Amino acid sequence: MRQHAQDLVYLDYAASTPVDARVLDCMNDVHCGPAGAANASSTHAAGRYAGRIAETAREQLAALLGAKPSNLIWTSGATESDNLAIAGAARFRSHRGRHLISMPTEHKAVCDVMEALQREGFDVTWLTPEPDGRLDLDQLAAAIRPDTQLVSVMHVNNETGVVQDIEAIGSLCRERDVLYHCDAAQSLGKLPIDLAHLPVDLMSITGHKVYGPQGIGALYIAERDGCDVYPLLHGGGQERKIRPGTLAVHLIAGLGKAAEVATGCMRESLAHVTALRDLLWQRICALPGLVRNGSDRFVYPGILNVSAGDVDGESLMLELEPLCVASGSACNSKSREASYVLRALGRSDLQAQSAVRFSFGRDTPVADVEFAAKRYISAVERLRSIASPMRSSAR
Ligand SMILES: *Cc1c(COP(=O)(O)O)cnc(C)c1O
Repeated sequence: MRQHAQDLVYLDYAASTPVDARVLDCMNDVHCGPAGAANASSTHAAGRYAGRIAETAREQLAALLGAKPSNLIWTSGATESDNLAIAGAARFRSHRGRHLISMPTEHKAVCDVMEALQREGFDVTWLTPEPDGRLDLDQLAAAIRPDTQLVSVMHVNNETGVVQDIEAIGSLCRERDVLYHCDAAQSLGKLPIDLAHLPVDLMSITGHKVYGPQGIGALYIAERDGCDVYPLLHGGGQERKIRPGTLAVHLIAGLGKAAEVATGCMRESLAHVTALRDLLWQRICALPGLVRNGSDRFVYPGILNVSAGDVDGESLMLELEPLCVASGSACNSKSREASYVLRALGRSDLQAQSAVRFSFGRDTPVADVEFAAKRYISAVERLRSIASPMRSSAR
């Protein structure tokens, strides 16, 4: 595992996971082996060797997804995959219609490319989530028009852990001849995904949320009439010209290895994070005024998002140190605006800005969760006592 400074307690796995030791070994072997200096496009022996490493990784990732290796395109991560899937498919099908559907609770990588396409003349419908974060399928059915080309709804939400029914969403899209794109950055290797049976046309994944390296991801593209993307980049012929550029063979090998490891330990990991989440909630739920954000039934248990409501989010983060957790949205951590995801679930500005996302993984020790619970309770109590000294002294 990538080591964190010793005095830090890291519970921000939804932002990035430590790299698994087996993955690190694998990447090291690539660098030190015959492919270390080679370009996978070269026809000489070293280049062919590098190419084989990338193809082995493609098979490992395909196995985890129930996909064919030829349906996977390497990218730099889920941000690029989201862009390639959405802009690429929208432009590919623009002669048929220019209407797209998504949700305001998507990752910025989806929301922002949708907005960019709006400026290009595409029309986007944003579906409001239910208070628990889930998509109402009737609302989706009603929003699909004759000119609709693509629906983009994520699998697991990065802030709340809410899980969407991607099978039902995909089936509805198939019935109406609309492409379905799913951002699965948070669910790859954590929840079962079987693309051999799921009606998903495009799926974005990334390495660094599944104990692989940062800077590598993939886009799954189903083999189906009308399902294709225009490239965003133009260059060599790599990745069927859909994503040209020299392959980052060591990162690809790392993602392949991470997929293989995840295939073997998914069930065990899920049980582990469920136990941690239950422990954490049990420890902190007695705090007055605490609310849990998102569904508590349809949720990936590696994420627990809570709001204390009446405490200042920024002060809370400072009080929580050396605990590493996310406030509001990690992507918004530099701006002070309250999480747009939680606002879309109907949370007040105060509730959204005081939100804390705890996220853990397969190697998180119970002791870290116990520490987090204690730290969180004392931080909230301290901030509340500062805010109203009378109340606390009267207790
Ligand atoms: C992390 C994340 C992304 C961005 O992935 P990168 O590989 O960091 O570009 C996109 N979507 C979701 C849901 C994520 O959690």
